[in-house]
Amino acid sequence: MGRAIVVGAGIAGLTAARALADAGRDVLLLEATDRPGGKLRSGEVAGITVDVGAEAMLHRRPEGTALATDLGLPLTHPTPASSRVWTRDALRRLPRTVMGAPVDLDDLADSGILSAEGLERARHQAVAHLDGDVSVGDLVGARYGDEVVDRLVEPLLGGVYAGQARRISARSAAPQLLDLLARPEVTLPAPVTGAPPVFAAVAGGMWRLPLALEADLRDRDSAEVRYDAPVTALRRTPSGFVVTTPAGAEAAELVVLATPAAPSARLLADPAPDAAAELEAIAYASVALVTFAFRRADPGVAEALDTGASGFLVPPVDGRRVKASTFSFAKWDWVRTAGEGLLVLRTSLGRFGEEASLQVPDEALVRASLADLATATGLTAPPVDAVVQRWGGGLPQYWVGHADRIARLRAAVARVPGLAVCGAAYDGVGIPATIGSAQRAVAGLLA
Ligand SMILES: Cc1cc2nc3c(=O)[nH]c(=O)nc-3n(C[C@H](O)[C@H](O)[C@H](O)COP(=O)(O)OP(=O)(O)OC[C@H]3O[C@@H](n4cnc5c(N)ncnc54)[C@H](O)[C@@H]3O)c2cc1C
Repeated sequence: MGRAIVVGAGIAGLTAARALADAGRDVLLLEATDRPGGKLRSGEVAGITVDVGAEAMLHRRPEGTALATDLGLPLTHPTPASSRVWTRDALRRLPRTVMGAPVDLDDLADSGILSAEGLERARHQAVAHLDGDVSVGDLVGARYGDEVVDRLVEPLLGGVYAGQARRISARSAAPQLLDLLARPEVTLPAPVTGAPPVFAAVAGGMWRLPLALEADLRDRDSAEVRYDAPVTALRRTPSGFVVTTPAGAEAAELVVLATPAAPSARLLADPAPDAAAELEAIAYASVALVTFAFRRADPGVAEALDTGASGFLVPPVDGRRVKASTFSFAKWDWVRTAGEGLLVLRTSLGRFGEEASLQVPDEALVRASLADLATATGLTAPPVDAVVQRWGGGLPQYWVGHADRIARLRAAVARVPGLAVCGAAYDGVGIPATIGSAQRAVAGLLA
């Protein structure tokens, strides 16, 4: 059996490399940077090691938690603290929704998130039958009106995709809404006490997952992980492929590209130009995360922050700089414990199309975050520490037509024997979906 090369050591590439090694293949994993994990990454704030990228994973999808468990990593779940929406000049309770579509209009009214006119429109629900792939914003807006889109769907989609509700495909990003909103009555069963939690994380940080995967690969004679090894070209040969890095060329029988859309498009230009063209059309949003540590005993800190909320989301219509803040100390017991008298939280800035607003020095992102935190919560004490992590081109945008684009792309890749693609650009940006795409890519290659 010939060797396999995997390009990119994010969670998708690490998963693909492990699956290939499990199948008895010699594997070479090539990573452009000096570390594994991609968007799963640790940073240090006030001496505490925390996630400065992804911090949680869906528990309802099995791939992420199953992988962590298989690697012997302890899982944890968020505390019951719930998020707020900072809108119309107050922090308001987030009502029950499915990706921003309200499932109880009295609960929505109580939350105070909508104006009287917005609520009136939401109550006059129109059951819309929209044809073809539509945006989440158009789907929800047709039923409940624009204000529900602006004040609920936008901040929720902003959290996951850093994207715009009126561009993101309902079929790709919120397929459950298509069925739900086609019904005359939108109701969901009440939450059941003792039901499995929706989210999970690795205790001590999601960044531990790629490190454990990498350690698992290193334990095998058949696998090699190479850093500072950006792949610059991919060419077909009669017996497989040649992969080029600045250090030289490597031959392989199988190649898995686990890189974001832009590098994958460049590498596919020779073996699969039709797939490359489809990938070039996938846009990405840039975001920045600022992680802060505040001393709980400082004046006003506990009153402003330690209130039982797990953070807040901000609708773009409210015109603030931050789009969300996660009170990590309130959401994760392990963060509060690690903090020892410090409250660690993070703010998130940047949505699709707002790249210019992030092109400022780190201090400006810190100042903008502190100003918004002060207005939202009344916090005035200075932080003990602040760390900025930028994710340029961090999140692929699943615009209307995404699923058809991916089907065309996959068909073009499948015409090249021995080649596969996986990662966040294809079938879901979340960690479990990304792991699943890597597992399916390898299964397809080996079949
Ligand atoms: C700020 C942020 C927060 C997030 N939070 C969550 C969350 O809480 N929960 C959740 O489920 N998801 C979250 N996500 C999404 C999720 O983390 C990502 O979609 C997922 O981790 C992507 O994994 P990947 O392996 O596809 O890509 P990446 O993590 O982007 O990995 C790709 C790797 O390929 C490497 N690479 C690129 N080009 C080359 C090349 N030419 N040669 C070699 N290597 C190359 C890169 O350096 C990188 O290491 C978040 C994303 C961001 C940006």
